[in-house]
Amino acid sequence: MRLRNFESDSEEENWQIIQVTKETGEIKDRIVKDQKIEKLLSEIDFSLIDQLLVAECQKSGTDPADEKPISRANFFITKKPNNPAQAEHHPLSRSIELNPENLRQQATDLGISLETWVLFTVFHETVHDYSFTKIQGGKEFYEAGSVGNLIKDLIFFWRKKPENKITRISGYQKTETVIKAENPEEPQNNLTEYRRLHEFFDEGVTDKIALEILKTYQQAKPDTVSKTDLEKLIKVYSSTKEKSGHGRAITLVDKVITDISHETGVGTETVWQAVKRGKMGVENYNDEETQKILQAELPANVYREMTR
Ligand SMILES: [Zn+2]
Repeated sequence: MRLRNFESDSEEENWQIIQVTKETGEIKDRIVKDQKIEKLLSEIDFSLIDQLLVAECQKSGTDPADEKPISRANFFITKKPNNPAQAEHHPLSRSIELNPENLRQQATDLGISLETWVLFTVFHETVHDYSFTKIQGGKEFYEAGSVGNLIKDLIFFWRKKPENKITRISGYQKTETVIKAENPEEPQNNLTEYRRLHEFFDEGVTDKIALEILKTYQQAKPDTVSKTDLEKLIKVYSSTKEKSGHGRAITLVDKVITDISHETGVGTETVWQAVKRGKMGVENYNDEETQKILQAELPANVYREMTR
């Protein structure tokens, strides 16, 4: 199974190349200089990260081997005015933007070095890149015009026919955009309704995998991450009541793992391996049957948290 699936109604696949060129051009216009982060990026051993994530994908039944491995070239240090995001992954062009100011602020807030926080963020975004990705209706979307200005974090697509809906799956996250009213003069201003499922859960799984990679990376290259920083991060991410908003996503994932383990009698580590496989390769996670099973097996409050 392919890791990335950009379905289109048309046989013409040229739109992908055109759109990737356009997207990369827009990102390049936002580039800012930051010598420290540039140096950090140039020192990262991307082949090690690639090796770890390709192995995870293969266990999940997807094969990214024929794709270009992630490298320094995928990353851009950029600035968008009034954007609180620290990083952003673009699934179509596989570009990753890093915002130096917001990264510095977060490292300070967490009380860890910028080096460790940049590494963790790079790993987090790279995990998004190796998550199973499916986009339907891309060609139709680009013909209708981009809505990139309206929504900050993600790229949206919509399908004009048959139901004015576009669906995007990235790992566990499912995004649906439905056109409520069309504006033929300015298609970018169509009135759309936007639904996101499992975003929080997917972020928790992403963080948990990124933390695993950080641990492995620290063992392989002890001089790149301080042990104190690593311990601090683990503590923040396992806390249920910390204030920064981190941790809550991972603790939800851990809760789901414990509940499934309890219901099935399967060990938590086995359940976690299955959850990872679901992110990298199981296409049918969002199907009705799986949802019914989860709804029946998990406590109501956990299921509710998981779907939001
Ligand atoms: Zn994320």
